[in-house]
Amino acid sequence: MDTGINLGKVSEEEYPLEPTIPPKTVFITHAHLDHSGYLPAIISRYGCQEIATPPTQDLGELLHIDFLKLQKEGGMELPYTSQDVMAVRSHAYDVNYNVEMNLRGGIKAMLLSSGHILGAAMVRLKINDRVILYTGDLSTRNTRTQDMAETSVGKVDTLIIESTYAAHNDRHPSFQRVEREFKEAINKALDRGGRVLIPVFSVGRAQEVMLSLEAFVRSGVLSRVPIYIDGMIKKINEIYRLYWYYLRSQIKRQIRYTRQSPLESDIFVEVYQKKNVNLDEPCIIISTSGMLEGGPIVGYLKQIAEDSKNLICLTGYQVPGTRGRRLQDGEREIKLSPDEEPFKVFSEVKTFEFSAHADQSGLFRFISKIKGLERVYCVHGEEWKTIEFADRIEELKKISAYSPINGEIYPL
Ligand SMILES: [Zn+2]
Ligand SMILES: [Zn+2]
Repeated sequence: MDTGINLGKVSEEEYPLEPTIPPKTVFITHAHLDHSGYLPAIISRYGCQEIATPPTQDLGELLHIDFLKLQKEGGMELPYTSQDVMAVRSHAYDVNYNVEMNLRGGIKAMLLSSGHILGAAMVRLKINDRVILYTGDLSTRNTRTQDMAETSVGKVDTLIIESTYAAHNDRHPSFQRVEREFKEAINKALDRGGRVLIPVFSVGRAQEVMLSLEAFVRSGVLSRVPIYIDGMIKKINEIYRLYWYYLRSQIKRQIRYTRQSPLESDIFVEVYQKKNVNLDEPCIIISTSGMLEGGPIVGYLKQIAEDSKNLICLTGYQVPGTRGRRLQDGEREIKLSPDEEPFKVFSEVKTFEFSAHADQSGLFRFISKIKGLERVYCVHGEEWKTIEFADRIEELKKISAYSPINGEIYPL
């Protein structure tokens, strides 16, 4: 279940460990590279089948091609070729939510919505009388694009749960409050003549931020300035329009009946090779990558950072070691490459928790709804968080909980 790549690369390897037994089936919960990024390598090596929702297949392909491009530009190693990316489709099975599949060896599998991004799924496996649920990335609040994760998951004895925001002090403010503060901060920066830079992931975060801005403009509560969109966001928006069925009911209805997506509203100006961007006037720039590690955002960073009128809006969790994390932690000297002189950041830097991950109370609410739970594995988080989370589950829920280390094997 999942085969990602590590984009922060601080404490761990970049690519997954080799599986001890050749896999026959790989489930991909969602397209983000930390879950799907190594898939083409696994398929080319083992020729196994892959199961995911239809949007995950399409989004994944775009992200894999883009990943190869960025690695090549950065002079870095390529773990697979573009032919390997194209070959994934001949091993792929598209499966919708809530459909029971019969796999080899009497295993039954089902994908359930995890509420995280378009097409994101949890995987439920029935092996004899054991039921295992793997959450992938999990969101337990409604956002503009997604309904929260499915909570009727049936009886589950073994849960493998993500831990991105699992620490006791990880508490998200309500989505409404995040949006209100976001709007106020942007208006303030624009009013003082500043420019606003918003680094986003191309899948998920970009669409949430764009729909918030679109709603602000429509209701007349945001100063009217050009909103530039740079990076591969436009291609991703097309997939969001195509798979409207996987979106939240309101936007789903809108796209279904009008055939138009608010993500393609004319308030957004698509950037063509930076030629149509006017940075001399107040404006908003939404661009990839979300942690300022690559992509067109890096080209804007220096220009925006040097002026105290400007505002940089981080939109959620930043992996340790990334430029985004350093800014979030208060560092105000940033380098664009190891051999370059650092530059000073004078602009305002703020974080708005647009996160598509459950916080600790959301994770506990989710766990509480599961019947028959016997053991929990806390994964996909900073190490101290997975340990703390496992301890709290044992203490509060009286269920065995573990924080596995890489390569560890647990008999079920
Ligand atoms: Zn994700
Ligand atoms: Zn993730």
